[in-house]
Amino acid sequence: MNDYQIEINLSSAKKQKPAFDSLEFGKNFTDHMFIMDYTQGRGWHDPRIIPYQPLKLDPSAMVFHYGQSVFEGLKAYLTKDQEVLMFRPYMNMERLNKSNTRLCIPAIDEELAVQALKKLISVDREWVPNVPGTSLYIRPFIISTEPYLGVASSKQFQFIIIMSPVGAYYKEGINPVKIAVQNEYVRAVKGGTGNAKTGGNYASSLKAQEVAEETGYSQVLWLDGKENKYVEEVGSMNIFFKINGEIVTPELNGSILEGVTRNSVIELIKHWNIPLSERRVSIDEIYEAHKRGELEEAFGTGTAAVISPIGEFFWNGEKLCINNGETGQVSKKLYDTLTGIQRGEIDDHFGWIVKVDEETPVISAI
Ligand SMILES: *Cc1c(COP(=O)(O)O)cnc(C)c1O
Repeated sequence: MNDYQIEINLSSAKKQKPAFDSLEFGKNFTDHMFIMDYTQGRGWHDPRIIPYQPLKLDPSAMVFHYGQSVFEGLKAYLTKDQEVLMFRPYMNMERLNKSNTRLCIPAIDEELAVQALKKLISVDREWVPNVPGTSLYIRPFIISTEPYLGVASSKQFQFIIIMSPVGAYYKEGINPVKIAVQNEYVRAVKGGTGNAKTGGNYASSLKAQEVAEETGYSQVLWLDGKENKYVEEVGSMNIFFKINGEIVTPELNGSILEGVTRNSVIELIKHWNIPLSERRVSIDEIYEAHKRGELEEAFGTGTAAVISPIGEFFWNGEKLCINNGETGQVSKKLYDTLTGIQRGEIDDHFGWIVKVDEETPVISAI
């Protein structure tokens, strides 16, 4: 067991910061990044914070050819008391390792990764935006870097964390979205990589997203890849319905990504004693429930929007309007509670918040 420290090499010049009241998602990056290398035989080594900069990779680096990569997404928030909070970062790092297992990428030390996050955010603390509704979006990712064209798992990797100040998702308050149900393309099948957060899932989803946008819908509702019948996810969010007083969400079936927000919503629903079931739910059932007047709410959950109410579905030529296209009560309460906890305005009874400034224990490598 050897102790290792995160080395810090500060940037000599600070970048000009964008205006925090008109931030676009994922366009501006902070002054520094975290990086760590993996070499077969040595394991993960040299964790360090360096000035934000382009990577130098061999054109034959395996990630360019076979897509062996995984990523995460989480946020840090500035409170009224100028503290910086992260929301459930350990769960993200645990999920990163689950994705790693599926993609044949060596596991990272989850504790080291969270400490790296804390250090990186501290170094770039001025980049945590202070305008209401804004946050610092954090993107940890791992890529295969070995220069080799053989189809096999890479023997070299890089784990990198970059950060981007982002604006309020809803500029004029929480607003329902319109969703097109996808019948032609599928996102994932059981046995595939649907339950891993990997770039390939996104590459294959772009076509359907484009088609949806051309017809005036903002996102795609994915059905299962086998029968084209059961609801899986919406865009890059998990999905929930409220049917006749009960909250229903598709069960984790191997092709659905387990969202941190999904997990948090389930905890809150249970805490509030609202009936909940995680089960298979077909798109027919949703349309039937609507016909009976029992489909009360639908919403997506994900780090970017937190809760995204759904006002309309379009499937097989049939439009379905939910709750008059307005945000439902449970959706609103979930949104207010989750964002309140994330910003330190509501007490965190669940142990979800990790403060960036907390004392960090000495890290030791496996
Ligand atoms: C990241 C992601 C989600 C949402 O996960 P959160 O942890 O809640 O942000 C849902 N579906 C897919 C496909 C995703 O990639």
